[in-house]
Order: sequence, then structure tokens, then C-alpha cells
Amino acid sequence: MKRHRAFRDYLKQHPEQASAYGALKLKAARLFPNDIDRYMEYKSSIIAEMYKELGEMSEKNAVCDITIVGGGPVGLFAAFYAGLRGMSVKIIESLSELGGQPTVLYPEKLIYDIPAFPAIPAGELVERLVEQVERFEDRVTICLKEEVLGFEKTGEHFTIETSKGEHLSKSIIIACGNGAFAPRTLGLEGEENYADNNLFYNVHKLDQVAGKDVVICGGCDSAVDWANPLEPIVKSVTLVHRRDAFRAHEHSVELLKPSKVNVLTPYIPLELKGD
Ligand SMILES: Cc1cc2nc3c(=O)[nH]c(=O)nc-3n(C[C@H](O)[C@H](O)[C@H](O)COP(=O)(O)OP(=O)(O)OC[C@H]3O[C@@H](n4cnc5c(N)ncnc54)[C@H](O)[C@@H]3O)c2cc1C
Repeated sequence: MKRHRAFRDYLKQHPEQASAYGALKLKAARLFPNDIDRYMEYKSSIIAEMYKELGEMSEKNAVCDITIVGGGPVGLFAAFYAGLRGMSVKIIESLSELGGQPTVLYPEKLIYDIPAFPAIPAGELVERLVEQVERFEDRVTICLKEEVLGFEKTGEHFTIETSKGEHLSKSIIIACGNGAFAPRTLGLEGEENYADNNLFYNVHKLDQVAGKDVVICGGCDSAVDWANPLEPIVKSVTLVHRRDAFRAHEHSVELLKPSKVNVLTPYIPLELKGD
């Protein structure tokens, strides 16, 4: 269905291809005036041939109603909702998988602020969002490993330039979150020697630090939200923050106070020493 729609859209935007297609259909009708089966067979072979020629071009060049830049939670839900409103949608995501920050940075962390879910692991939330989008798979196209570089309005629609080519769209939703993921480093000498060994900028799996002495630097949600659930499974947790007050949700900070998390404020890490 999706291919058929894309083919039809493609013909709408390319009158010369549409008239070539019309001429071939006419030829088929002349060749088999009284044989509907052979006519249909011939017509199908023309379409198959045109599909082959156009390859993915037809899908790519079709002007879709909405193109969403970014396949994180916001992009996914926007795609679902656009599907609900009967629109054709394209998600362009620079990473190789959907889900944005929850997928890449904290798939195992529990999220508590999603309506109707008292607690849900981030990875599962993304799975459910993807499932929701799949309901409209006939009208949602997903382009992974493709970065949007820019766009401009050309006539009636936008031309979106990506790392792989161009897409046409009537409208664009930018759901890039914080953009491409780049960790905020500590800025300490020799930091790169420890990175991904015993210095991490995200917790992909809780097991990676289980049973260890862990120091977390930071005072926002992500720092406090890691200190609390890690406390029962690691040997010790120390939370180092440059200010006395935390900028995390009040409730998370309340949970921190009676816990065994060793809170060091106001402290700034100055040096890294280790293996
Ligand atoms: C450790 C941590 C814990 C968190 N915990 C919570 C929590 O408990 N509850 C909560 O509500 N929020 C939490 N957040 C915040 C939450 O993750 C973000 O608010 C949410 O991910 C924003 O969703 P998004 O879709 O707007 O952006 P993102 O999740 O950032 O997704 C944006 C996507 O766009 C893609 N992209 C960017 N630029 C381009 C481009 N040019 N071309 C193509 N693709 C592009 C990126 O690759 C990415 O996949 C947490 C964040 C962190 C880091």
C-alpha cells in the first residue's frame, strides 16, 4: 500500500512520468482489447518495471505531509498523532535506532512522569511508542542513519537536505531534543584515558556499575535519578555537586536525603587518579 501511494504521489509530481505511464497503459489496452487478464498482467509488468526503475526514488521524492526531524519520544509520538490525523509522515533520525535519549542514554532507568504509567523503564517506553507508530506503518516512513543538514522552502513545499540526499515535505516538525548526543565532559586532564573504562557519561546497563564504588558528578535530574536507584545495587554512591542546592525534581531530592548516598556539596572535581 505504502509503495502504491508513493508511486501515485510520484506520478502526481512528475507529469512527464505520468503521461509515459498513461501511454503504456493505453498500449496495453490496444494489445489486449478483449482479454482483461492479459491486460492486467501486462499493466502489472509495466508498473513493476517502473518501480524497478524508480527504485526507492518514488518514495523519497514523494512530497509527504509532515517530516519529523528526530526519532526520539517527541518525534515518535508526533508521528503517531499525524498518522491518526490521516497524514503521510516521515521520520528522519541520524542514529541507527529510534528512541532518542531514553534509548541511548538510560534504557534501564525507571521513568515516573509518564501519564498512566506509575513507573516504566525507559527502553520499554520507547518500545511502546514504536508499537504505537507501527499502527500507521502504511503511512509512516522511517529513515535511520540519516542526518538532516538543512531545509528551504521551494514553492509549495520544503526541500530537506540530509546526509543521504533530499526529501520533499509540506511541513516539518523539529524534534531534535538536544541535537546530536555529545556528553558534557568534566574537562579534567587525562579524562579521555578513563572514558568508557571506568568513567562513563551514561549508564546503559545498571550491571555495568553493580557492586562498585560509584561517584556521580552533577546536580540535575539525571545525576539524582541515577544516585537513587544505584544506591541499593552498588558498593557505595557519592554524589558530587558544585552547588548546595540540586536542580532535580523535589521528590527525587527528598528520596536522596535519607538514603545512603554520600552527598558532597559544594565540591568540584579537580583531578582524576586511577588505573
Ligand atoms: C539520564 C537522563 C534521564 C532522564 N530522565 C527523564 C525522566 O525520568 N523523565 C522525563 O520526562 N525525562 C527524562 N529525561 C529527559 C528526556 O530524555 C528528554 O526530555 C527526551 O528524551 C526529549 O525527547 P525528544 O524526542 O525531544 O529528544 P531526544 O530524546 O533528544 O531525541 C532527539 C532525536 O533527534 C535526533 N536528531 C538530532 N538532530 C538530528 C538531525 N539533525 N537529523 C536527524 N536526527 C537528529 C537525535 O539523534 C535523537 O534521536 C532524562 C534525560 C537524561 C539524559
